[in-house]
Amino acid sequence: MGAGLEFFPQPSSELQAPEAAEMTTMLVRHADVLVTMDEERREIPDGGLFIRDGMIERVGASGDLPSTADEILDLHGRVVIPGLVNTHHHLYQTLTRALPAAQDVDLFHWLKTLYPIWARLSPEAIRISTQVGLAELALSGCTTASDHLYIFPNGARLDDEIEAALPVGLRFHASRGSMSLGESQGGLPPDRVIEKEDAILRDTQRLIEAYHDPRPGAMLRIVVAPCSPFSVTADLMREAAVLARAAGVRLHTHLAETADEERFCLERFGLRPVDYAEKLSWSGEDVWFAHGVHVTPQEAARLGRSGTGVAHCPSSNMRLASGIAPVREYLRCGVKLGLGVDGSASNDCSHLLAEARQAMLLARLAAAGQETAGPLLSARQALELATRGGAEVLGRTDIGQLTAGRCADFAAFRVSRLDYAGALHDPVAALLFCTPEQADVTAVNGRIVVKDGQLTTLDVGTLVERHNRIAAELCA
Ligand SMILES: [Zn+2]
Repeated sequence: MGAGLEFFPQPSSELQAPEAAEMTTMLVRHADVLVTMDEERREIPDGGLFIRDGMIERVGASGDLPSTADEILDLHGRVVIPGLVNTHHHLYQTLTRALPAAQDVDLFHWLKTLYPIWARLSPEAIRISTQVGLAELALSGCTTASDHLYIFPNGARLDDEIEAALPVGLRFHASRGSMSLGESQGGLPPDRVIEKEDAILRDTQRLIEAYHDPRPGAMLRIVVAPCSPFSVTADLMREAAVLARAAGVRLHTHLAETADEERFCLERFGLRPVDYAEKLSWSGEDVWFAHGVHVTPQEAARLGRSGTGVAHCPSSNMRLASGIAPVREYLRCGVKLGLGVDGSASNDCSHLLAEARQAMLLARLAAAGQETAGPLLSARQALELATRGGAEVLGRTDIGQLTAGRCADFAAFRVSRLDYAGALHDPVAALLFCTPEQADVTAVNGRIVVKDGQLTTLDVGTLVERHNRIAAELCA
């Protein structure tokens, strides 16, 4: 394992600090409602959890749980949900949010504007933006974050992101992204930001060996993630799949995001994006695509049959006028579907509960005028995408639900506040229908990362100050 793990010893790991070796217990009790997302989708009034050594041992009504523990968390006045799971993001982009020149353009123009700026990123910029984005996610109730870093200028490495992420305290899936198809070869990115393919594959192998933890409860996993059809070659996609499968890690890329990309694939490869991916063996239980906007019903059915996952990123898709992903079709076809805040320069925020709200609203807009549309996407379905759905997309059977034997990853939202006044007929739905609030408590493996609405692991004020300074230098 990488040296970086010393930042955050895991309860179930041999890296555990000696003084923490004793079993510890935590009792979470008196939540107004505890949303389990279990097979029956139970919602337990006056609910709670009994946690041992970072794992959930019992779930139930507070009166049915043990009455003592090493640590007791009384969550009266809160709704408790499984920790949210983010399945697509680019944390470094928090440095280029709301950049005037990239505010009002579509994906390809947005990228063309931003590539030269991102070419000036430094290892320090990667580190500080990682912490800023993860802090935002943690404060929105997210407990597992996946990130896709695909540009490595000026000596930056994925190690910079990993080392910066660990002290924040979220479960982290770091994708080794890459770009190898420059402008001179017909790709979109300028040649100076691309890497050589053999170097990409060598570095990817190194990172898997150094950091990937396949065990249940893992805090850190590596993902193999060439960036998109218009920024890497077919060869790299094929080789990356071989490498990932030999190492037992997952594959991720952008696919079917915009009409421009579809045109690019048809012109260059004579195939639509999903066909192209399948031809390169990018299909199956170990693959998930970001976006999946321009996907036909037949293609959705194939994704469902093959077990390929999709990270739905509604805010980004609206922001860049990319289109509306066929969420209803995906659910009908049994496609594994999670949510991604994406960005963060195409959102421009890292609030996962807000993203679940966007998913609910956008799916409703997509149903406008369709007589056969049936019931609209519900608040609970949207919350399910952000929890169970995300866990499935990331291939994790140890998170996404509050059930015995899973990791104690949860978030609590205080519902006795102005924003929810009058909505307590259904406090669970209120989390999605009303203003998306910050979490009052966020816990990962039973470790409190957010308490009383404040991040406990890092000083946010200092972080923001450093981040703004680096952002200003980067865009000067
Ligand atoms: Zn993306």
